[in-house]
Amino acid sequence: MTMYQAICDRCGKPCAESSGIIAWKSKATARTAAFDSGWLIVNHEAYCPDCYEYDEETHEYKPKVKED
Ligand SMILES: [Zn+2]
Repeated sequence: MTMYQAICDRCGKPCAESSGIIAWKSKATARTAAFDSGWLIVNHEAYCPDCYEYDEETHEYKPKVKED
C-alpha cells in the first residue's frame, strides 16, 4: 500500500504529527494534515513552520529564501 507523507520542500523534513501518524493514504490528506499542523501549503509545495515567514510588505506568508 502506498502511503504519502508531506515533506518540506525547503529543508526536507517530513511532517510528523504528535499523534504519531506520519503517513496518509493520499497526498491530499497528507497535505491537509500538514496544513493543520501549521505548515504552509503553496500550490504543489509544502513548507514546515521553520521554513516560511510572514512578509510584512505583502501581508502574506512566504517560504524563506534558501540560504547558500
Ligand atoms: Zn522546512
